[in-house]
Amino acid sequence: MTGSTLVGASYGYWGTFHQGISIESGLLAAGLCSVAGMLPDLDSNSGVPLRETSMFASAVVPMLMIHRFRDLELSTEAMALAAMLIYIAIRFFIVEIFRRYTVHRGMWHSIPAAASVGILAYLVMPSPSEGERVYKSIAVVLGFMVHLILDEIWSIDYRHGRFRLKKSFGTALKFWGDNMTANVSVYGKLILFAYLAWGDQDIIDRLRERERWTQPQIAEQREAPPPWQAWLPVRR
Ligand SMILES: [Zn+2]
Repeated sequence: MTGSTLVGASYGYWGTFHQGISIESGLLAAGLCSVAGMLPDLDSNSGVPLRETSMFASAVVPMLMIHRFRDLELSTEAMALAAMLIYIAIRFFIVEIFRRYTVHRGMWHSIPAAASVGILAYLVMPSPSEGERVYKSIAVVLGFMVHLILDEIWSIDYRHGRFRLKKSFGTALKFWGDNMTANVSVYGKLILFAYLAWGDQDIIDRLRERERWTQPQIAEQREAPPPWQAWLPVRR
């Protein structure tokens, strides 16, 4: 996590001061990148990363989905209910799936898994600006990739003046593994998520179009840039 936190901080800084991303989004992206550095080890059997990450995710994911809830015109009560359901889904179902179906350094430690996690983040966090949405999703992929790259670096052993590769070398930063079922499953999910993300912008546009007719003030408020954005250095 130290590595992904450093990369996340730089990424947040770069986004805020060089890409005109809002400060909140920059900080959020930095945090997402940092936490995403823990994600690949959800497949480890020790259970600590799984417990920590799932508790964190079940608290934060509903908050990240607030734009999504608003687009669906949920009432505050319905949002609270949705948050509870997401909590239960993560703590009981997703954790169980990881506990049962992943092996350490299996296909969850792979480049297609990193891409899938990025697309999932994209689906979870709709944002008024498509640029910020992509920016935050890339933060998650970055954190995940930093973990995979560091796993590979730690599997290079330097002793008595020469390099030696540990058995674990090549098991983190990979496109496919030895288990064919796992390969098919990972790429199948990647294609499914990509397909959903592809259609998602259309769905949001349609929902917002409806909002513009039924609640014009809310739509206007949402689309206006925040007032403090005027004094941020913006270089495009
Ligand atoms: Zn790892």
